[in-house]
Amino acid sequence: MACSNKLSTVDNLKRRGMSMANRCVLCAAAGEDVQHLFFDCSYSLQVWTAVNSRMSLDLPSNLGHLVKWLKERNKGRAKDKVKRRVAFVCALYTIWKEMNKRIFRGQSTSVYTLSSRICYDITTIMYHHMVGF
Ligand SMILES: [Zn+2]
Repeated sequence: MACSNKLSTVDNLKRRGMSMANRCVLCAAAGEDVQHLFFDCSYSLQVWTAVNSRMSLDLPSNLGHLVKWLKERNKGRAKDKVKRRVAFVCALYTIWKEMNKRIFRGQSTSVYTLSSRICYDITTIMYHHMVGF
């Protein structure tokens, strides 16, 4: 999803005629594309770093490296590999939801709260994965 560059980012909304400043809604820096939104953005980077640290993960922070790394070195059903893939999807989805919440509802969540939510989701999904439902 994130890798296809087809998310409803501000750039895409502008292409559809919605008038918005070309600034990232998460960190207010200039420029807003998928690479920025999920990895280069200072807000997203803090979320990634917190999740990596709290969940004892070693996920690369660069989108290109991360996708290649997950495909090549994290296939299979081993718990640590599943956990990395789950963490990747949870973090992307939660950051994307945060972006939409800021754009459409004008509400924002702290790095601490968002990363806590992602860690909770990862733990819950891994628990269900381990017990088999
Ligand atoms: Zn940003």
